[in-house]
Amino acid sequence: MPGPGETQQRVTPRDILVIPVVVHVVWHTSSENISDAQIASQIDVLNRDFRADNAEVAGVPTIFGLFVADMEMEFCLVATTRTQTEAAGIGTQIMGGKRRVCYNNLGGHDAIDPAHYLNIWVAGRTDGACGDAPLPGQASPAPPDEAGVFIRPDCFGTTGTAAAPYNLGRTTTHEIGHWLNLKHLWGDSLEDLLCLEDDLVLDTPPQAYNYQGECPTHPSISCGTADMFMNFMNYTDDACMAMFSLGQKARAWAAINTFRPELLESSCQPVASAEASDDDTIRLLNNPAAHWTALQLPEKDIFEIAIFDSTGRLVFVKNRVPGGLFYIDTQAFISGIYHIKIRDGGKIHTKKLNIVR
Ligand SMILES: [Zn+2]
Repeated sequence: MPGPGETQQRVTPRDILVIPVVVHVVWHTSSENISDAQIASQIDVLNRDFRADNAEVAGVPTIFGLFVADMEMEFCLVATTRTQTEAAGIGTQIMGGKRRVCYNNLGGHDAIDPAHYLNIWVAGRTDGACGDAPLPGQASPAPPDEAGVFIRPDCFGTTGTAAAPYNLGRTTTHEIGHWLNLKHLWGDSLEDLLCLEDDLVLDTPPQAYNYQGECPTHPSISCGTADMFMNFMNYTDDACMAMFSLGQKARAWAAINTFRPELLESSCQPVASAEASDDDTIRLLNNPAAHWTALQLPEKDIFEIAIFDSTGRLVFVKNRVPGGLFYIDTQAFISGIYHIKIRDGGKIHTKKLNIVR
């Protein structure tokens, strides 16, 4: 028992799930090549919205206040890729039955380890929508390489090119809701004026409207009850969204256990199970290193190289590296252990680099 002046260590009832995120910026016009600051602003929004730590929670009407959920999920950015593409509006384009933005050879960028990482593609669209995301529980789920969320650049984050009324990052909050198998509050159609459909969540009242482009005032009645229009799974303007519900939290966690169990072993560090064991087709030279190191890569392929420090922070990334000897200047790295992840098509190799000065 702690004595006077001592404090008991705080016990967390359940670990927060930290979901590692890869953002693929696939840009056609230079304004679509959004800044790192705009990406960081989106991660900040997610870390507030999924912990019920966003300012708008205070304005949730009393009758819904009991149902506000801390989703107990947080997000860490582990990598950003940037790809210039010939294709305008690539985010919604399909070619040969495939979603172009998800494939290097169709002008987009391949998903990175979609079982362990949430892949977010930020790219222009042709459908006028801010974003979309497939639900893992739908009848014919998207192939793993296309399982992520898709956001228009001007609906992403809170700074840079983010434009009102979708400039508070709520499109991505909403689409990650879909990625976690949450439906719109009104159901599966565009609207549900006859109140026939439901989102299969008990604590979100039946709702007829999608509230697109609106910021309603409470009470806004449909289907005989006040609507939870401030729920993230509506089309309400960003500024007028506030919450996920406890029922949605239960459905989202069930989806993780059912469809995305690998996330439970994910962390912001490089993912062990995704790593091929030592593979002598790739060799790390000059390790331990002080000022430089080098990778000997097979001649036949093109590689992506990312280096993470011991906390899982991305400190170096280079795409489209040809085979041969690849030098890496390590003078800016502080002493310690680093993980070099080398992506070769669908395979990820990992090398441990020790920087010693
Ligand atoms: Zn939606």
